[in-house]
Amino acid sequence: MELQNFTIKQVHEGLKNKEFTCIELTSAYLKQIKKRNNSINAFILIDEDGALTQAKKVDDKIAAGGKLNLLEGVPCAIKDNILVEGLVATGGSKILEDYTAIYDAAVISRLKAEGVVILGKTNMDEFAMGGSGETSKFGPTKNPHNIKMVPGGSSSGSAAAVADNQCVFALGSDTGGSIRQPASFCGLIGLKPTYGRVSRYGVMAMASSFDQIGPLTKSAEDSALVMNVIAGEDKHDFTSINKKDNFSKDIEKPLKGLVFGLPKEFFIKGMDKDVERTILEAINKLRDMGADVKEISLPHTKYALSTYYILMPAEVSSNLARYDGVRYGSRANAGNLDEMYIKTRSIGFGDEVKRRIMLGTYVLSAGYADDYYKRAQKLRTLITNDFIAAFKDVDAILTPTTPHSAFAIGEKFDDPLTMYLSDIFTVSANVAGLPALSFPVGDKDGLPIGLQVLGQHYQESLLLRIANQFEISH
Ligand code: GLN
Repeated sequence: MELQNFTIKQVHEGLKNKEFTCIELTSAYLKQIKKRNNSINAFILIDEDGALTQAKKVDDKIAAGGKLNLLEGVPCAIKDNILVEGLVATGGSKILEDYTAIYDAAVISRLKAEGVVILGKTNMDEFAMGGSGETSKFGPTKNPHNIKMVPGGSSSGSAAAVADNQCVFALGSDTGGSIRQPASFCGLIGLKPTYGRVSRYGVMAMASSFDQIGPLTKSAEDSALVMNVIAGEDKHDFTSINKKDNFSKDIEKPLKGLVFGLPKEFFIKGMDKDVERTILEAINKLRDMGADVKEISLPHTKYALSTYYILMPAEVSSNLARYDGVRYGSRANAGNLDEMYIKTRSIGFGDEVKRRIMLGTYVLSAGYADDYYKRAQKLRTLITNDFIAAFKDVDAILTPTTPHSAFAIGEKFDDPLTMYLSDIFTVSANVAGLPALSFPVGDKDGLPIGLQVLGQHYQESLLLRIANQFEISH
C-alpha cells in the first residue's frame, strides 16, 4: 500500500473500514523506515518481528468483529531512553550499546494495553543531552525537510521519524526542550506535559525534577489522543499526579474570549528576523480568531537558562553515577575496582555527557554548592512565581519555540555555549514544571518554524485547543 500522511484518526478509520489491514499498514511503514534509515538515521533499532506480530493480533481482532481502541494498530516509534521490554535501550550512548530492557516503562505498558504497534527505538542525543541529535553514539539524525540540517534534539529520531512518515506518532522526552525544539524544526506538534502528568518510570533519568515524556504528532488532535493514553498516576513514580483528564475535550472550542500574554523578555536581540516576523504574524492570526493579546513581563526570564544549566547538570551528575560498569551496560577491563569505574566511564560516555557530569559535580561540591546550586534553586522559585503571577491576567503565554529555524549539521557542535543558547525559550517551562507545546506556524526557506504556548499547571487541554484551532483555520 502507499503511505499517506496518516494521522491516528485516519489510521483508526482505515482499519475499522477495512481500507487496509494492520499488516499492510505496518509493512508499509517498515518499508519506508528501511528505505530512509540510511539517509535520515531516525531509528537505532527496527523491531520488525514485534511490529508484525502485534499487527497480526490487531487484524485477528478486526476479523473477529472486535471493537478497536483509538490507538490500536497505530504504528509508532519510541525514543531510545524509554524502556520497551526485550528491546535495546541505549539512550544514544556507547555505555549502553548492548543493553536490553528487562521491563516496560509505564508509558509503554499503557500504550501496549491500548494495542499500538511499536516499530522500533529512535535515535537521540546521548542520554538526552543536546539540542541537535549530534551527540548520539549512533551518528546524527538528519532533518527530513533538508538533510543538511539538524532535526533538533534531543528527541531527534522521534521527530524525524514522524515528519518523514516513518511512523504515525512518536514519544519523546523533554528536560529543557527536547520535544518542543525538534517539533519546531520538523514542523510537528510537540507537547511537554505538566511535571508529574506522565510517569517517568522506566525512562532513563537525565534531570529528574525536569524530565517529562510527551508525544510528537502531526496534529493537535493526535497529541491529545496519545495523552489520553499515557497520562495518569503511577504507583512506581511518586511524582506522578492523581488527576484524570480528557485531553481532547476542549479541542473544538473556538479561541474567542481567551487572553494571551506576550512576554517582552522573550522577544530578544539576536533572534532570527524571519522567525520573529513569522511568530508575530501567527500571533496576529490568533488575534483575528478572537483572542485578546497583551504584553506581559516575566522579569526573571534572563536567569532561566543559567538556572537550568546549573540545576540540570547537578541532577545529571547524580543520576549518571549508576552507569558504573557494575549495574548496567558495558564494563571495561581493568586491574582494580577504581580503575574499572574510571575506564568504563571514560570509554562509555561521550564528551557532552562528561562535560555535564563535571559541571554538575562542581556546582554541588562543598564550597560551591551555596554559590551555585542553592542560588539556582532560589531562582527556580522566582521564575516559577513570575509565571504564577502572569497567569492571574492571561490564559496562556505565547513565545517563539526557538530563536532560529533548524541549523546546519556541524554548525554548533563544537561550541556548546552557542548550542545551549538555542534552549533559551524552552527551558523555563521545565524550570517551572509547566505544560508547553510547540506547533508549526510557517517556514523559512522550507524549514519549519514553531510557536510555543505555555499554560498553567494541568492546562494541557487549553494548549491543544489553541494549536488545533490554528491548525484547522490555516
Ligand atoms: N537541549 C537541552 C539540553 O541540552 C534540552 C535537553 C532535553 O530536553 N533533554 O539540555
